[in-house]
Amino acid sequence: MLINKNYRKKSELETIFHTLPDLYFRVDIEGTILDYQANIIADLYVPPEELLNKRFQEILPPEVGQKISQTIREVHKTGNLMSVEYALPLEKGVQYFEARILSLLTDQVAVIVRNITDSKQAEQALKESKETAEIANQAKNTFLANMSHELRTPLNGILGYAQLLKQDRTLTAKQREFVLIMESSGEHLLTLLNDILDISKIDAGRMELEINEINFAHFIKTITDIFQIQAQQKGILFTYEQETPLPDMVHGDEKRLRQILINLLGNAVKFTTEGSVAFKVGQYQDMFRFEVQDTGTGINKDELQTIFAPFQQATIGKSFIDGIGLGLAITKNLVTMMDGTIHVTSELGVGSQFWIEIPLPVSENWAEFALLEQTTVMGYEGSVRKVLIIDDKWENRLILDNILTPLGFELHEAFDGQEGIIKAQETHPDLILMDLVMPVMDGYEATKKLRELEDTDSASNKVIIIAVSASAFDEDRQQSLAVGCNDFITKPYPVEILLKKIQEYLQISWIYEESGEIGDADNKITPPPPETIDMLFNLVIRGKIRDVRKQLTELSLLDEGRYHLFVDKIAKLAKSYKLKEIRHFLNQYR
Ligand code: ADP
Repeated sequence: MLINKNYRKKSELETIFHTLPDLYFRVDIEGTILDYQANIIADLYVPPEELLNKRFQEILPPEVGQKISQTIREVHKTGNLMSVEYALPLEKGVQYFEARILSLLTDQVAVIVRNITDSKQAEQALKESKETAEIANQAKNTFLANMSHELRTPLNGILGYAQLLKQDRTLTAKQREFVLIMESSGEHLLTLLNDILDISKIDAGRMELEINEINFAHFIKTITDIFQIQAQQKGILFTYEQETPLPDMVHGDEKRLRQILINLLGNAVKFTTEGSVAFKVGQYQDMFRFEVQDTGTGINKDELQTIFAPFQQATIGKSFIDGIGLGLAITKNLVTMMDGTIHVTSELGVGSQFWIEIPLPVSENWAEFALLEQTTVMGYEGSVRKVLIIDDKWENRLILDNILTPLGFELHEAFDGQEGIIKAQETHPDLILMDLVMPVMDGYEATKKLRELEDTDSASNKVIIIAVSASAFDEDRQQSLAVGCNDFITKPYPVEILLKKIQEYLQISWIYEESGEIGDADNKITPPPPETIDMLFNLVIRGKIRDVRKQLTELSLLDEGRYHLFVDKIAKLAKSYKLKEIRHFLNQYR
C-alpha cells in the first residue's frame, strides 16, 4: 500500500492522492520520517524535499513536533491508536490539522494527517449559531413574560368586573346574559394565553410539576360539573362512570391533571354534535386510567399521529372556529412529565376515544374535606382585620376594595412599593396584597424591605404578605416566596381562591348568607333514600365524622349530583364538627 514517490509519476500521484489523506508518513519509533506521501493540495510547513530522514521536531514548530514524537513513542508502546490536533499559521491563514498515529506491524508507526480547518470552522459556526439561538430563545421568553403580564393586567380588570357585576341582583336577565358572555370570552382569552405560555415553557424545558394532595372525589366532581353543564347546553348526553372504587386522596399536580382532563373532555364535547360523551375513571394498582369517549366527528386514520404535534389540527378540526391546535400537544407533554401515557383510537363519523394512564400515589392522609362553597360569604367572625393593597393600577385596587370592604375588612391602599412600606408602618395591616411589577419600587424589593424592618423590630408581628401577580412563570412565584411572601396568587383569580387564602392565613371563619334554618333553601334539598339517612345518622351519633365525610363524597357523585345540596349542608356542618346540628338536620328526613 505504501508508495514511494520516487517510483511514481506526478500525474499518477495526483489521482491517488486526491482520494487519500492530506499527508501520510511512515516513521520509525524515534520519530524519524522514513517515507511519506503528500497530497499535492496538502499544506506543508516545509518544502517536501526536506521531509525525508527528518524528525517531526525539525519540520514543525517545536512544541507540536515534540507532542507528535512523544505520542509516536506511546503508540508504539501501547499499540493504541492516538491522535494529536494542532494549528499552523500558514500563508492562507491559520489551518487546523489532526494527526492520527497508529502502530504498524513492524517497528514502525504511521502518521496520517488531515486538514480539519473546514470542519473546525463549521463546528465554530455551529457553536456561534447555537449561542445566537440561545440568546434569541431567551429574548422570546422575556417577550412572553412581558406579553403575559401586559395582557393579563387588563384581562384581570375585565374578568374582575364581570365577576362583580354578575353578583349584582338588580341586573335584568338580558344584562346578566351579556355579563356572562363577557366573562366567558375573557376566560377563553385567558385559556389561549395560558396555552401559548405553556407550550413555550415546555419548549424551553421550563415546565415544572407541582405535586400536592388531591381530594380525588372533589377533584372529579368539579370537572364533571363543568361538562355536565356544557353538554347540556349542546344538547348531548354526558355520563360519568367510576369503574373501580377510588381513593380519597392521591398525590399529583392537581392543576395540570385538571388541565389534561379538561382538554380531553373539552375536545370531546366540542367535536360532538349529537350523541354522548362518556368519562370513565378507574384505578388499577398505582395506575389511574381516565377515559373520554365521544360519538363525534372522529379523526382520519392518517391524521391520528399528527394531532399531538403543536399547532396541528385534523381536517375537521380546522373547520372549527375556536382552537389553535395546542391542547393535545400540551396534554401529551404533561402526561409524559407525569410518567404516564396517552392513547387514541378513532373512526371517522363514529367517534373517538382518548385515554390516559398515569401513576398517582395514593395518600392515606385525610386532608380537609373541601367541597366548593356554594353559598355567598357575607363577612367574618371576630375583630376587624386590616388589609393593605399595594398595586400601581387603580382598577386592580378598586376590584379588591369592592370585594373586601363589603365583607368588613378595613382597607388601605398604596400605589407602589415605597408608599406601601410607609403605609404598612402607619397602619399595621394583618395582610398585604402585593403586586410584583410596579414603578419606583417593585413588590420583591418592598417585601424584602418589610421583612428586614420586622427583623430589626422584635416587637412587631410578622405581617402576612400575599403576592398577587399577572405573571404565570414559576420563577416569579419562587422569587416572591424567596424574598418573604407567604403565598402567591396569579391574576386573574376567582374570588373564591382569594377568600380561601385570606381565611387560611388570617384564620378567620366566614359568615355565610343565611338560608333560614329549615327555610326555603332547605325545601329545595333532595334527600337521599331513607336507608342512607339512617346510616348517616348512626355514624353521626357514634362520632364517626371521617366516615360521614366518606359517605358524603360517594353520595355527591351519585345520580349526577342530585344530592349535592344535601351533601353541602352536612359537609359544612361536619367541617366545624357541629354534630348536634347534623343530627337535627337529618332528623327532619327520618
Ligand atoms: P384544538 O382543539 O385547539 O384544535 P387540540 O390540540 O386540542 O387543538 O386538538 C388537535 C386536533 O385534534 C383538533 O383540531 C381536532 O382536529 C382533533 N381532535 C382532538 N380531539 C378530538 C375529538 N374528540 N374528536 C375529533 N377530533 C379531535
